[in-house]
Amino acid sequence: MSMEGLRVFKFGGASVRSAEAVQNLLRVLRHEPHGPLVVVVSAMGKTTNALERLLAAYMGGLRFDEELQALRDYHYGIAQALFEGQPDHLAFVALQHLFEQIDALLAQPPAGPYDYCYDQLVPFGELLSTTIVGHYLTAHGVSNVWVDARACLRSDTSYRDAAIDFDTSKYLCQREFDLKRAKVFVTQGFIAGTAEGSSTTLGREGSDYTAAILANLLDASDVTIWKDVEGVLNADPKLFANTQRLPYISYPEAIELAYCGAQIIHPKTIKPLQNKRIPLYVRSFINPQAEGTVIEAEGRTANLPPVYVLKRNQVLISLIPRDFSFVIEDSLSRIFALLYKHRVKVNLVQSSAISFTVVVDDEPHRLPAALAELREGFEVRHNSPMEMLTIRHYTPWAVAEQVEGRTVYLQQRTRTNARFVMDQRRTD
Ligand code: ASP
Ligand code: MG
Repeated sequence: MSMEGLRVFKFGGASVRSAEAVQNLLRVLRHEPHGPLVVVVSAMGKTTNALERLLAAYMGGLRFDEELQALRDYHYGIAQALFEGQPDHLAFVALQHLFEQIDALLAQPPAGPYDYCYDQLVPFGELLSTTIVGHYLTAHGVSNVWVDARACLRSDTSYRDAAIDFDTSKYLCQREFDLKRAKVFVTQGFIAGTAEGSSTTLGREGSDYTAAILANLLDASDVTIWKDVEGVLNADPKLFANTQRLPYISYPEAIELAYCGAQIIHPKTIKPLQNKRIPLYVRSFINPQAEGTVIEAEGRTANLPPVYVLKRNQVLISLIPRDFSFVIEDSLSRIFALLYKHRVKVNLVQSSAISFTVVVDDEPHRLPAALAELREGFEVRHNSPMEMLTIRHYTPWAVAEQVEGRTVYLQQRTRTNARFVMDQRRTD
């Protein structure tokens, strides 16, 4: 079955954070030309964080009734505003059904380890949001079918970081997203399901990835991520002045940017699109007329301005072997094995004859144990808090502007990237 012309739209938490936001989503669908359409929706606003807090209290044997009530009030509040004067609307029946499932789950003691329990509870954020959005669209003339992503995206049991089985999912998706059933489908981002029927999640911010997977499996013509910014910018406007929109980015460039730490899109998103050369648009749901950014196969020459990516809360660690050996392959492999074992994320490495330096994320649950073990074989020095600035496509002017007058502890340059590790600046 061919799905020619099918488009995939992804709406993140901010785009459905309130009743007005959901009304705006409808406006976007009405104004944006589309034939068959899959609408992927995240949990509303900061719901995933709220569910994580709820889970922590539940797992810790603490009270969670207030947190649960707030979750209920928030979703009912949005639904009441959207279905004003219609207390018998089916949407409320569906919401009640979901909250009964949440109550039933929380009434039992945790049925497994943290990651497993996380994946049984946290997907309710997306189940709730898509239920409200689906009913609202139907009520306003956009008839649609609600698809349970857990039934069509099959994953393994790596809870909280589930890996998709593309072959099985392809079969299931082609069955669920059947154009004979509807022209518009509403489904959840971020979640999938195992063969045994338990829920899984794809990692925080995973809805972009869901949109890319579905586009790949259904051979969509394009994917649009609707955001509250006008496309991909060359820096985070909260941290840098005079940001610029990047009109076009190639797939490899987008992967490089995500790797540097740019929070443009979930890093796994590009591959499924690149494999089928499906373009990805990033556009503003506040200003849908604006052009946005397109991420697609190389072809055009793009004169990219310098792109600034700042990673905060970094630790600079220098290691000197205690046995006065040089830092040769043997030491390097020991160091990496150890950092990997403790799941410490390494962002930059540099070695000299007698010392080896790494810049890592400051992860309070992981780093101290890794440092303790490193001290057995190395003299360890570390500095924190540091920040690491990457300037991709750097120019002398861009470097001077950012770095002049600051103490640089470590720097590294390739033809395209310049990276500087410096004291962390206060942000007020
Ligand atoms: N709701 C999930 C999160 O907040 C997934 C997403 O928004 O992409 O991480
Ligand atoms: Mg999000």
